[in-house]
Amino acid sequence: MGFKRLGLSDPTLTAVADAGYTEPTPIQAQAITQVLMGRDVLGIAQTGTGKTASFTLPMIDILAEGRARARMPRSLILEPTRELAAQVAESFEKYGKNHKLSMALLIGGVNFSDQEKALDRGVDVLIATPGRLLDHFERGKLLLNGIEILVVDEADRMLDMGFIPDVEKICERITKQHQTLFFSATMPPPIQRLTQQFLNDPKKIEVARPATTASTIQQFVVKVAPREKRRALRKLLSDEDVQNGIVFCNRKTDVKEVYASLKRHGFSVGQLHGDMEQRDRMEILRQFKENEIQLLVASDVAARGLDVPAVSHVFNFDVPGHADDYVHRIGRTGRAGRKGKTFMLATKSKTDVRLLEAIEKLIGNPLDIVDGFDVGSDKAKQQKSDTEDKVVKPRAKRADAKPVKEKNSKERPARETRRRTAPRGQDPSANFAPDDMPKEPFVGMGPHVPSFMSIVAKPSSKQKQTGE
Ligand code: AMP
Repeated sequence: MGFKRLGLSDPTLTAVADAGYTEPTPIQAQAITQVLMGRDVLGIAQTGTGKTASFTLPMIDILAEGRARARMPRSLILEPTRELAAQVAESFEKYGKNHKLSMALLIGGVNFSDQEKALDRGVDVLIATPGRLLDHFERGKLLLNGIEILVVDEADRMLDMGFIPDVEKICERITKQHQTLFFSATMPPPIQRLTQQFLNDPKKIEVARPATTASTIQQFVVKVAPREKRRALRKLLSDEDVQNGIVFCNRKTDVKEVYASLKRHGFSVGQLHGDMEQRDRMEILRQFKENEIQLLVASDVAARGLDVPAVSHVFNFDVPGHADDYVHRIGRTGRAGRKGKTFMLATKSKTDVRLLEAIEKLIGNPLDIVDGFDVGSDKAKQQKSDTEDKVVKPRAKRADAKPVKEKNSKERPARETRRRTAPRGQDPSANFAPDDMPKEPFVGMGPHVPSFMSIVAKPSSKQKQTGE
C-alpha cells in the first residue's frame, strides 16, 4: 500500500515522494489515518520505525487549516532531548516544505530572544523539551490554551530522565479540547498511568522493535579484557569495512577518552556528550551526517534518536546498563532495509555477564561471539576481582555469522600489570595505557599530562538526574 491511500493532501504527498519514500512503514500505515480522523493515538514504537513521519505528516495537513495567534501555539511536541527536538523540526521542514507552517523550538542552547519573537508572532508548531517549555510558560511568555494537538514523544526516555512530573504539569495546563499523540518504546507502569490519565480512548498501535525483527542487523559480541578494549575497538575498526559508525560508551568520561584515543590513532572521529554546547553538538552531527567524519563516539542521552540514515556499524564500547539501551543503540544501523553490523565489547566481569544475559533475553537470541581477542589471563583474573571467573555459556553460532578477519594478528598481547593511574609522586603519563600513546614523538608539551587534567569532575545534581 502506497502513501496515497492514507488520506494525506497532494502537497504533503509530493514532499513525501521528494524524501524518497515509496511505502509507509507499519506505524505510518496505521497511525496517519487515525490522526487525520482526529483520534488520540498511543504508539508503542521506537526510533527507526518511521514514527516521526507518522505524526508530522498528518499534523501538517491538519494545521494547514487555520491561523496561529500570538503566544498561542496550535500544536506542541514534547521531546526528551534537544537533538530529538531539532530532528523533529527538520522533519517538519522536510515534509512541510509545500506548506506555510510556522514553527519554533524551545530547547536549551538556542537563542532565547529569537524564539520569543517567533512565539510572539504566533506559531503553528512548537517543539520543546519539557523544562524549557515550563520556563517560558511560568514567565508568562506562552499560553497553552490554543493547543489543538499535543505530541508526547519518547515518553519512556522522559521517564528515565526524570521529566514525567513536568510532562504531567504541561498536560494539566492544556485545558482546551485537544488531540493527543503519545509515543513510547516501552510501557512501564508510570507511563501507563500517564496514558490512562491524559489520553481519550486512544487507538493503540504497537509495532515490532526494529532490533528484534531486523534481519538486516548482524550482531556480535567480542569478549575482551577490560584493558584491551580500546585496542580491540581499533582492531574491529580496521578489520571491518566501516563506511560510518557510532561508538557508544556508557559514561561521558569514556566518550571523551575513547574519542581522544581514536583521534590520536588517526581515525576520522567526532564526539557527542552532554558537556558539549548545543552549537558544537549540532555541528558534529552535521559533519557526521555529511560524511565529513566517519565515526562518532557518543553517550546514550546525547545520541538518543539520532536520525542518521545508513550507518553501517554500531560499536558498543561498553555493555549498556539497560537491555533497552542496547536495542536503541543498535537501532542506529540496519534502518529501512539496509544492512548493518554491530559489535559489543564485553568483559568477563559479573556485571557484564549479567547485562549480556539480559540483552540476549530481551532480543530473544544469543549474540554471536567473535574470537581472536585477548580476554585476559588467569593471573589478571586473580589480581582483579572484577575480571572474575564466570564463563559465559557456549552458544550456537548462527550459520550466517561472519567472523571478523584476523588481519592484525601481530597486535601486542595484553600487559596484565599495566596501570591506569599513577601512584602519588609518579609520572602521570602512566594515566595513558601504552597502546594509546602515539607512535610519533610529541611536539610541544611532551608526553606528560598535567595531573590536574586527570581529576574527574563531580557531576552536578542535574547531570546526575539526566545521566549525562
Ligand atoms: P524515525 O523512526 O522517525 O526516527 O525514522 C527513522 C528513519 O526512517 C529516518 O531516517 C526517516 O527519514 C526514515 N523513514 C521514515 N519513513 C520512511 C519511509 N516510509 N520509507 C523509508 N524511510 C523512511
